[in-house]
Amino acid sequence: MRRIAIVGAGQSGLQLGMGLLQQGYQVTMITNRTGDDISNGRVSSSQCMFDAAMKTERDLGIDFWQDSCPQVEGIGINVMNPEAPGTSLFNWAARLDATAQSVDQRVKMPVWMDKFIEMGGELIFEDVGIDALERLANEHELVLLAAGKGDIVRCFERDDIKSAFDTPQRALALTYVHGMTPSEDFSRVAFNLIPGVGEYFVFPALTTTGPCHIMVFEGIPGGAMDTWQDCKSANDHLQMSKDIVSRYAPWEAERCGNITLTDDGGYLAGRFAPTIRHPIMTLPSGKHVFGMADAIVVNDPITGQGSNNAAKCTAVYLQSILSRGEDLSFDTEWMQSTFNSYWDYARHVVAWTNSMLTPPPPHILQLLATATERPDIASRITNGFDDPRTFSPWWFDADACSKLMKKAETC
Ligand SMILES: Cc1cc2nc3c(=O)[nH]c(=O)nc-3n(C[C@H](O)[C@H](O)[C@H](O)COP(=O)(O)OP(=O)(O)OC[C@H]3O[C@@H](n4cnc5c(N)ncnc54)[C@H](O)[C@@H]3O)c2cc1C
Repeated sequence: MRRIAIVGAGQSGLQLGMGLLQQGYQVTMITNRTGDDISNGRVSSSQCMFDAAMKTERDLGIDFWQDSCPQVEGIGINVMNPEAPGTSLFNWAARLDATAQSVDQRVKMPVWMDKFIEMGGELIFEDVGIDALERLANEHELVLLAAGKGDIVRCFERDDIKSAFDTPQRALALTYVHGMTPSEDFSRVAFNLIPGVGEYFVFPALTTTGPCHIMVFEGIPGGAMDTWQDCKSANDHLQMSKDIVSRYAPWEAERCGNITLTDDGGYLAGRFAPTIRHPIMTLPSGKHVFGMADAIVVNDPITGQGSNNAAKCTAVYLQSILSRGEDLSFDTEWMQSTFNSYWDYARHVVAWTNSMLTPPPPHILQLLATATERPDIASRITNGFDDPRTFSPWWFDADACSKLMKKAETC
């Protein structure tokens, strides 16, 4: 039986661990937070996952919240008028072909940990450093580092060519609330783009205290939405959330009259630089560690792709591990080629996500405005969240975009 170690019990680590156990592999998972630490702690993400990523969970039979989690049925875009703050330039909404959902990681990961153990996995709690990686590399045929944004991932060398930024591009905040009025017609990720200030989006989810809404704030650093450091308490955070929405997205404030925090841990503020890292770490002994998901490709959450990427990365890695059968080694050539297969997908997500972090070029503003009148374009943008490869080339290239708009006209 092949022995594999995975560091990090998050979306990618646990999903891969359970996938391998189902195939008869011996899996040791080492992580630095227990299920209780996670469920009693702070929220860490807004983790909205679209259908293709959810399918990777369904394929393994681990999508336990399909019936209990509120479904996200579409995407809405509202662009605020920079000339008249508080008013909208245009807005539209379209349905997803298949629904999305967001299960609080504080709900999901503890359940997955129990399931991993039930399936025969070994789960060890330890904050892993280089010495522990050496130990794991001695005892296992393959060591995967799925430690998300943990400090240990900095031991993977930054890929300067693939990384577009070296500083955080947004001041991030999350506010999990009960009592929000649902959006009209159908549930959605309601995006509000506020030129020069940042973005606010909100959608339904499932948290430790039941169905909720997650408010996500993406403030341009140093700008009017980069104010979370002034909050000294959970109450301050909630009040700041309400104030920002009232000021910059008053149409959304109407939904917030009765909101309360879901629980003491239902809020977060922070920032990080989107970064791509080389996927193979060489330990002092010369042994290797292979990185996956956020540990090597971490995007700003503006397009809500991180958990989706983690699940899709897992599917690629699982197939690639299985393809080695009983005997072929997990050498660095195999690691690089496995990463390349994932990167072939992830590079599209990175390009699209990065494009959202800089002021939109005229063709994108025109495209978003045109979608108001053109359900086919609105649908195309909406469903691109499920597979960002479909944004190429028209999202990035003004000529291709213009052709798309003309083609749509004749449809
Ligand atoms: C504000 C915000 C909003 C987001 N919204 C979305 C969204 O709407 N949609 C979406 O798809 N994604 C979203 N994401 C991103 C998503 O949460 C991550 O991309 C995803 O969780 C990454 O999965 P992972 O398996 O790589 O890492 P994680 O899920 O972060 O898991 C990492 C694991 O490693 C463990 N660990 C870390 N260091 C060590 C160590 N030294 N030793 C042992 N264990 C360690 C951690 O405890 C954790 O269990 C958001 C992120 C943020 C910050």
